[in-house]
Amino acid sequence: MILNARDKIIRRLLSLARTPLLYYPYYRYHLPWPSVILIENTNCCNAQCVMCPRDTLTRKRGFMEFELFEKIMKELSGASRKPVVHLHGFGEPLLDTLLPERIKLAKTCGIKHTYIVTNASLLFPETSRKIIHAGLDTMKISFCGTDEESYHATMRGLDFKVALHNIKAFVRIRKELKKRTPKLILQYLPQEANGAKTEEFQSLWRSLLDKNAGDCMNLSSLDNFGGGKSYNVVGERIVSVCFYPWMALSVLCDGRAVTCCVDYNGVQVVGDLNCQSVMEIWNGPVLSSIRRNFGKLDYSGFPTCLSCDWVCRR
Ligand code: SF4
Ligand code: SF4
Repeated sequence: MILNARDKIIRRLLSLARTPLLYYPYYRYHLPWPSVILIENTNCCNAQCVMCPRDTLTRKRGFMEFELFEKIMKELSGASRKPVVHLHGFGEPLLDTLLPERIKLAKTCGIKHTYIVTNASLLFPETSRKIIHAGLDTMKISFCGTDEESYHATMRGLDFKVALHNIKAFVRIRKELKKRTPKLILQYLPQEANGAKTEEFQSLWRSLLDKNAGDCMNLSSLDNFGGGKSYNVVGERIVSVCFYPWMALSVLCDGRAVTCCVDYNGVQVVGDLNCQSVMEIWNGPVLSSIRRNFGKLDYSGFPTCLSCDWVCRR
């Protein structure tokens, strides 16, 4: 499963968890391994999108050491049921020149599904070939504009023509190589800055995407990103159990693991993969106590959760 709160299915699942009692048996236990592991290869980015709280990022910018990534992959290779591996975090994954090597290693370690979210500004033909050959399974592209004006007003710092050209070239190259992966998901977030031109977005991409490869579009809505933005009014009380600690592990590029990818400043740390294993963190006392607290709807002590609009609130 690809875990992204901007996807409708995840939002639906989060809203289903409104009745803690009903879900008690599920919340009481957790799977032996996370179903999804999100590994931030870098927290650097070449854009300043209006809907992104990057201006409040306090963490040191950098790239994950390849040795640390290798250590995580080797451990995952022993998992009976391999998690889906996201190879991105709070940054632009294609800034990482080692990304194709990371994908290749993940696939060699038996990971069935690898996934990135990119702005496509650096998806040049050579990079496209590298990530296709490396075996990337799914690539979501954020493309929040329908023409130069709306794109530049939203995805500040990037170039509409370059990104559009890169995506078209990618689809052509994938076809030439007779590959169906990575499958493309074109994401649009309708908002004031881009004029919310949903129909124009659909007609821009409809003929370019390859249905045989499973390409599709994803129209989503803006979120507050753990209080980094304030697009949505949030109710005082959280009334759903956030299932992230039962399902996923998010790892920052410095190796610390946090409750989820919303915690982009790393304030809700659950462990450190520099000195612990995935298993030690996943089955350890910190996450166990968080699961107990979340199960009782007790989010006190979790400042990011207290501002989060991914969970249901009243
Ligand atoms: S490309 Fe992604 S990480 Fe970079 S500024 Fe835009 S939304 Fe934020
Ligand atoms: S910030 Fe907290 S409540 Fe929101 S998705 Fe993350 S873990 Fe769940």
